[in-house]
Amino acid sequence: MTPPDHQVVAIDGPAASGKSSVARELARQIGFAYVNSGAMYRAVTWHVLEHAVPTDDGAAIVQLLEKSRIDCTLDPDGSRIAIDGLDPTEHLRDDRVNEAVSLVSSVPRLREILVEKMRAYAKDNDIVMEGRDIGSVVFPDTPYKFYIDASPDVRLRRRLAQGQRDQIAARDRADSSRRASPLIIAEDAHVIDSSNLTIEGVVGEIIGRLKMKGLEIK
Ligand code: C5P
Repeated sequence: MTPPDHQVVAIDGPAASGKSSVARELARQIGFAYVNSGAMYRAVTWHVLEHAVPTDDGAAIVQLLEKSRIDCTLDPDGSRIAIDGLDPTEHLRDDRVNEAVSLVSSVPRLREILVEKMRAYAKDNDIVMEGRDIGSVVFPDTPYKFYIDASPDVRLRRRLAQGQRDQIAARDRADSSRRASPLIIAEDAHVIDSSNLTIEGVVGEIIGRLKMKGLEIK
């Protein structure tokens, strides 16, 4: 793997651990671009559902993806993805996407396609990227790795407060037990339990750690 040309802060963790809010705010404070890799898996899942491809048919999913155009870009709010010219942003949290995303994301070739796009972001930008395998697989060489956790109760409450029906325990089980790039705590990741912390508190801890590791923050 060629190393990224720019700095990468990797933030992994289970569903509803608070990592999106933290990653977005961290990126804003340190002036890096924010990339949500979960949104990329969600967008592809939406595309698979729209094309009525069975979500348990890995070969058919790969066949669909190989002939689809996937454009990953950045705007001031962070990463965006369009597939065959369509931007599925408003559908990424639909119930049917929540239900299918872990299964669709377990297809190894699909992951390869998206990981290549994730790495491309770091060619031209300093980035904060959040996901499940960013520190372990996508950018294993970055020295800036964090794993954000929270108790199952707190995570469930956070999702309900967002008004979402999301089987987070089932997704976590699937994401942690799949063969391709499971959710794990990278050996050199700094673990933060956000159960009793505010977003500001977690961001502050991360920035302190980044400075300690020598990252120059403007
Ligand atoms: O982060 P978010 O909960 O939006 O991610 C949705 C799903 O996308 C996860 O449950 C997981 O199945 C998949 N995902 C992944 N690898 C990543 C990010 C997300 O497999 N790096």
